[in-house]
Amino acid sequence: MNRAVFMKQTVKVKVKSAYVKSIKSGFPLLKKEAVQNLQQLGAEGTILELTDDSGLFLAKGYYGKQNKGIGWVLTHREEEQIDVGFFEKKLKRAFELRQSFFSDPGTTAFRLFNGEGDGIGGVAIEYFDGYLLIQWYSEGIYHFKDLFIEALNSIVDYKGIYEKKRFDLQGTYMEDDDFLIGERAPVPLLVKENGINFAIYLNESAMVGIFLDQREVRKTIRDNYAKGKTVLNTFSYTGAFSVAASLGGAMKTTSVDVANRSKSKTIEQFSVNGIDFEAEDIIVEDVFNYFKYAGRKNLSFDLVILDPPSYARSKKNTFSAGKDYPDLLAKAIDVTEQGGVIVASTNCSTFGMDKFKGFIEKAFKQADSKYQVLEEFRLPADFKTIKEFKEGDYLKVVFLQKL
Ligand code: SAH
Repeated sequence: MNRAVFMKQTVKVKVKSAYVKSIKSGFPLLKKEAVQNLQQLGAEGTILELTDDSGLFLAKGYYGKQNKGIGWVLTHREEEQIDVGFFEKKLKRAFELRQSFFSDPGTTAFRLFNGEGDGIGGVAIEYFDGYLLIQWYSEGIYHFKDLFIEALNSIVDYKGIYEKKRFDLQGTYMEDDDFLIGERAPVPLLVKENGINFAIYLNESAMVGIFLDQREVRKTIRDNYAKGKTVLNTFSYTGAFSVAASLGGAMKTTSVDVANRSKSKTIEQFSVNGIDFEAEDIIVEDVFNYFKYAGRKNLSFDLVILDPPSYARSKKNTFSAGKDYPDLLAKAIDVTEQGGVIVASTNCSTFGMDKFKGFIEKAFKQADSKYQVLEEFRLPADFKTIKEFKEGDYLKVVFLQKL
């Protein structure tokens, strides 16, 4: 077999002494401020050989600008080449770690490769019933595309591959066709998660219609928290939590999202699960307005799901989870029945579980109410993380009972 000829330029880069220890101990992200000779990095995709001040080898990585850094460490072994074999090795290990997903007929959508958690930062691959979706987070990693695909070809059986370039091409997202190779997927593509159906779109926008990292939370809501309950799902997107609740026997779900498209998308997700969407409430509105409305009407719910984006700007409000989560949660507490449950979730990577618990404490004080923690969730196993990179372990979900 012909292997892609691959000769990447290598540049020696000196790491500032204050950062040597962290690189040595396995921190995978290369920060701009850690590098001495920034101007010599060359073009994105260049292989970087990181050394300390005296020129002693530390690690190899690549140059690729993302919001959080300028590249990722790939190996700490000087003799290791960054070639097809390297990508095959990482992908194969990732593939093996997901065998339980491949053999579960009830779940056909999961993350196959999770960036630095699986050894290569800046790229994620999701598996959707035989189709692969590669997300490239920098132009730098995109230069390794041919190697990735060659490696994938030898490891995974797939029907087709799609890609999303999640980096700026001169500031605009120009992609009108994300299809790459193989067979095109049906539109929509129906996938399963613990027996729940989801209609997804691989070739429509930056997001496909479902966030796979909430799989266990959806299952838990369906299996243990929904039966007979009235459910409010805020920031509902395509209504995935509402569908899970409804399948778990919820009396009624109310989904609230400000995006117009959320309504038809939510109707579709109910429909592919055989749920009569007309018996459910699907509201296109700013959640902050909805809370005001609910307050005026004295509405309250048995189960309230709160999963806002980390940052959002609407006409009247800007929301930043790191600052505004307690306020938002206090509003959710106000519309929760006594004895009811709140699913407080955040995907914000700038704070950890301890700070999130502090936010919860603050919110209940503000709402003049008491609570107990029922259970907690972090990322599922397919979103593999490493202990050296806490920021990668971004998801925090706490089930709270209002007392
Ligand atoms: N909880 C969802 C994912 C939420 S994605 C799930 O698990 O599937 C974030 C959603 O928040 C987007 O659909 C966006 O339209 C919506 N959103 C952002 N700001 C909002 C606001 N102020 N009011 C209502 N929805 C908002």
